Amino acid sequence: MSDGMRIKLDRTLCDGFGICAKHAPEYFSLDDWGYAVLVGDGNIPEKDRDAVQRALLDCPVHAILNIGERRPDETPIQPLREPDLDKLKIEDNEAEWGFTR
Ligand code: SF4
Repeated sequence: MSDGMRIKLDRTLCDGFGICAKHAPEYFSLDDWGYAVLVGDGNIPEKDRDAVQRALLDCPVHAILNIGERRPDETPIQPLREPDLDKLKIEDNEAEWGFTR
């Protein structure tokens, strides 16, 4: 089981088919022009997850993004490490690394 779901709606992608509002009307409404509007803060409780997941999968333009899913068995995301500036290849040490560019 996962911890729940967090979604985001990219309204710049929405083409207004209204499928999301049909599947999960508690989380998607349509504006006067038929484009989707996210209802709430994007946090989806477990009980509504299937309906929202269906809306996400059926959206023809992939405007609904799952941004919060994390499974307990998933490897944690490693933070980005700063590059080692001492080993950076620069013009001054070009002879050391030859033609590897
Ligand atoms: S299913 Fe996708 S394209 Fe259709 S209204 Fe919802 S977000 Fe917009």
